[in-house]
Amino acid sequence: MNLYRVIFYFAANMSNHEQYPLRGEGITILAIESSCDDTSVAVCRNGVILSNIIAGQIVHEKYGGVVPELASRAHMQNIVPTVQAALDTANTTMDKLDAIAFTQSPGLIGSLLVGVQFAKSVALALDKPLIAVHHMQAHVLANLIDTDNKPDFPFLCLTVSGGHTQIVLAKSPLELEVIGETIDDAAGEAFDKCAKIMGIPYPGGPLIDKYAKEGNPLAFKFAEPQMPELNFSFSGLKTSVLYFLQKQESGFIAANQADLCASIQYTIINILLKKLKKAVQQTGISNVCIAGGVSANSGLRNGLTEMGKKHGWKTFIPAFQYCTDNAGMIAITAHYKYLAGQFAGMEASPSARAEW
Ligand SMILES: [Zn+2]
Repeated sequence: MNLYRVIFYFAANMSNHEQYPLRGEGITILAIESSCDDTSVAVCRNGVILSNIIAGQIVHEKYGGVVPELASRAHMQNIVPTVQAALDTANTTMDKLDAIAFTQSPGLIGSLLVGVQFAKSVALALDKPLIAVHHMQAHVLANLIDTDNKPDFPFLCLTVSGGHTQIVLAKSPLELEVIGETIDDAAGEAFDKCAKIMGIPYPGGPLIDKYAKEGNPLAFKFAEPQMPELNFSFSGLKTSVLYFLQKQESGFIAANQADLCASIQYTIINILLKKLKKAVQQTGISNVCIAGGVSANSGLRNGLTEMGKKHGWKTFIPAFQYCTDNAGMIAITAHYKYLAGQFAGMEASPSARAEW
């Protein structure tokens, strides 16, 4: 089916669905992720990801952050070719699909709307069910994608990204509970804001990781907040870095960039891993995963692996392409929702809020 004809099917094919077959084989799902600044589309069959296409947006670079209105416009430009590329890469066609999944929340509302409306149009055109997926739940389940080394349930997952920092207790693919989270900035935001203070271009997190490799993580000490229970706070770190740098001579940042990056990264990872250790102690669960964009950070990956060896945890980290925002994780979550018969109606709407 030609994607450009979807709109005509939208008008012509409005019949009601029969009960959808709940079968354990041959389930092919098209998944769309558009919560922030990447348009991503994946095809998954029987829980195996056949394609995971990500169209990034470079339009935001000169603004030093994601501009919501520009993001939604870019999603509209990208969505049709990205869906086509995902189908082609998976060597499948629209008529082979059993369900259409989309990210419902949380995210930028204008960006989410593009994915939700497109998914609804395709579902109506094909007379197939819709599956609404929570973005943060999907990050956790990225650990179940295409690997022989999957965590057994129950497991703990530290989800760290530019927008969120959470510790999640996963009892099954669809029984997830947030047991700790940030009360202000996310860990990824802390990386980006500290980078901005040092004049490192956006997005600064990956560059801090790169420069940190040459630096001494104990060269400078920055404030670590004392938060109760399993919650996090990162806004104080940014202030601590700012005040420290304001007291220095000009040229200090350039001369100490690697040590500054290594010390900031060390502090952020220390805050994250200390809480993860506390979560393991409190729950007695030692299958431990990380997920989200910051799980691509080499310091965090190494830190988790080392901590796992030290304390006897089994640790799991998704492949790089499933750490940052991607539709593969939406597809795997949708697969489990399909098996459980959890479909969305045509009245489903996006939500910017993170509750789940
Ligand atoms: Zn994300």
